[in-house]
Amino acid sequence: MNKQSKINSTISNDVPCPFCGILCDDLVIENKNNSLKVLENGCAKAISSFEIEPSEVSAKLKGKNVSLDEAISSACKILKKSHTPLIAGLGTDVSGMRSVMELADKSGAILDHMHGNGLIRNTLVLQDLGWMMTTMSEIKNRSELVIFAGTDACNYPRFYERVIWNENAMFKKKNDDREIVYIGDNLNSKSGINPNGKRPTVLNCKTEQIGEIISSLHALVSGAVLDVKEVAGIKIKTLQTLAEKMKSTKYGVIVWAPGELNVPHADLIIQNFCETVKYLTRFTRFAGFALGGNDGGMTANSVCAWQSGYPLRVNFNKGYPDYDAHRYSTQNVLKNKEVDSLLWINSFNSDINSPRASIPTIVMGKPETKLNFKPDVFIPVSTPGIDHSGQIIRTDSVVSLPLKKIRQSPYSSVHSVIKQVIERM
Ligand code: SF4
Repeated sequence: MNKQSKINSTISNDVPCPFCGILCDDLVIENKNNSLKVLENGCAKAISSFEIEPSEVSAKLKGKNVSLDEAISSACKILKKSHTPLIAGLGTDVSGMRSVMELADKSGAILDHMHGNGLIRNTLVLQDLGWMMTTMSEIKNRSELVIFAGTDACNYPRFYERVIWNENAMFKKKNDDREIVYIGDNLNSKSGINPNGKRPTVLNCKTEQIGEIISSLHALVSGAVLDVKEVAGIKIKTLQTLAEKMKSTKYGVIVWAPGELNVPHADLIIQNFCETVKYLTRFTRFAGFALGGNDGGMTANSVCAWQSGYPLRVNFNKGYPDYDAHRYSTQNVLKNKEVDSLLWINSFNSDINSPRASIPTIVMGKPETKLNFKPDVFIPVSTPGIDHSGQIIRTDSVVSLPLKKIRQSPYSSVHSVIKQVIERM
């Protein structure tokens, strides 16, 4: 509920934040003469994203200011002429992504998200052997043992406050009842120290070795004897102790961030997590949890799956959705010249920008976007959850949150711009 505190100043409560995949929905934001200030519950990332003053920029053709109408006509011409466009970035909300799907169908485009490499690591595992996953609420309310594998969750700044050490958990546990373990390369374990000062267990190893450690734990929980003194530099005794804890806990979770497992065949490491989890459910409750979904990643993947029957990466050029998680990556299709135009969309931030490609390029980005080249068409777009209302999907893909409009914006949404392009095509 909004309340008018004085003329031209409005305070919005329970504002959902779209700037990382955990979508905190408790921010308090003041709008004073259309300038925003995060009053409560914003992390540094949220504060910088909400409080940035929108620049006043016009649509552009090769760097030259034009009207939105002209820019849309030019975008339309490029896409009409193109045999196979690439629509990438895909930083948008549910309705933006729905219109992207329609445009892809009409123009025979290939679709990929800016975090596609991370997204497909999870998808490949889900498609191959399946998995047992949990939600943020379940971790908050029930977990006793949380193993962070290859991530310290620092890209999700309020994950510990909202999920791990949340005092309002439904089945209130003493903080000492929740045990934290880190497995990975120099992870920052500070946030894993519980409010009573109990330190987490840290197993330091290279990211490539996490799979080795997890499969050894899998072997140990299944009763195998490992005839070695250590695995990836971790003493076998330490692993045996952890394996016993994994079997005896009432509710355990392995947390990973697919985008941070930046090593070859990382999907096999994730498969190790998932198979270990499945085995552990013979003894107790255990589940996996993937941290991701930043910049509309989970939204793009989910909408693509609802509407086409396939997750990203999909090619609509054959008149039906053709899914190929590797072949249709942005990097591959540009390198292999499989596409002849690029539409890049990012309405959440101006940090991740369009690749420079030697094909006609349209960029729909935040007004603050700074590119190191002049695209054929630049269209400034509004940000979901600040400039317009919408819907976005959380990292655990079980919750879609309604986003609020909390300030006036002169810019159109991705949905509205793409709809106009489609109408003219
Ligand atoms: S942790 Fe993520 S969702 Fe929560 S306030 Fe920070 S950026 Fe927003």
